[in-house]
This record gives sequence, C-alpha cells and structure tokens, in this order.
Amino acid sequence: MSIRPILYLPDPILRKKTKKVTRFNDQLESLIADMIDTMRMSNGVGLAANQIGVEQKICVIEVPYEMEESTSTELYILINPQIVVKKGQRELEEGCLSIPNYRGKVTRSIEVRVRAQDSLGNEFKIKAVDNLLAQALEHEIDHLNGILYIDHLVSHESLWKIDESNHADSEHLSLFDHQI
Ligand code: ZN
Repeated sequence: MSIRPILYLPDPILRKKTKKVTRFNDQLESLIADMIDTMRMSNGVGLAANQIGVEQKICVIEVPYEMEESTSTELYILINPQIVVKKGQRELEEGCLSIPNYRGKVTRSIEVRVRAQDSLGNEFKIKAVDNLLAQALEHEIDHLNGILYIDHLVSHESLWKIDESNHADSEHLSLFDHQI
C-alpha cells in the first residue's frame, strides 16, 4: 500500500473519460488499497482513479455512518459505477481534492441510485437520499466521466477561494469542509 500523488486541475487526465475495468485481480486490489490510503491521508470523502492518473472506472468513498454520533465510517469501493436513477435537485457546497483551496456552490440530485461492481466483479446497488453519500456518488462518478464540480456551479460567482490559514489544522475541518 502506498500514498499516490493526486493530480490537480488543469491536468488533462482529469478531463478524460475512464475505461471500464475488465480484470478483477490482485493488481486491482492493490490499486484500491492505494486509493483508500490516498483518500484517507488527504482527508477526502472520496477519490476517483483518474485523480491519481489511472484511467479506469474505479472510485472509493468513505462517509460517516448516519444516525450515529461515533467516529465510525462506511467505506464504499465502486468498480464500473453507473448512476441508474437521479431524482430532485438541491444546492450544496462542494470542494475537490484536485482543485485545492477552492469551494463552490453546485446543483446536485436529492436521490441517487447507483449500480456498480465490487473488487471481485459482483454487482451491487446503492441508494442514497439527501446525504453526503448521494453528493459523493455524483461527484466521483462525474470524475470517471471527466466532469468536475465546477461544471455544475449554480452561477459564475459561486466559486470562491478559501483561506488556507483557516484550514491548516485538518482536525478542525468540519464534515461540511471535506473535499470529495
Ligand atoms: Zn473531486
């Protein structure tokens, strides 16, 4: 396992569509382990493979358990994920590990249903409604299609730079401040 460098805008890889995963082998397991380490080390809620330069349809998401005042989290590993249902609209603040020091206000769906495969190739479905998981699913699957949150801004004015000095101590980052 190792931490991989994250690519930043305007790296052209971030704008390319990724390719479907067809081999579910040890190499895939090792890549997923690196992605999880890299996401956690960066205090991210999610990471798409092309953010570390791998042009394949793989993303990982880790969000806190809902309805629990604990520090436990729920980890999702999504291979070849596809959004099958989107319902409703909401406006949310968002940031991205590949666009450091910026945040923006974007339009996202309220309900998101996704079909994906696990690291062994078994299909599964996820339904997320009005939560951080729903937002992260849309954000990461967008990444795999070369789309960034800045493409969903509610207006041209709804992107702003954040003051780095306020974010020097990651322990004080609220959930709301997390990068996806
Ligand atoms: Zn992102």
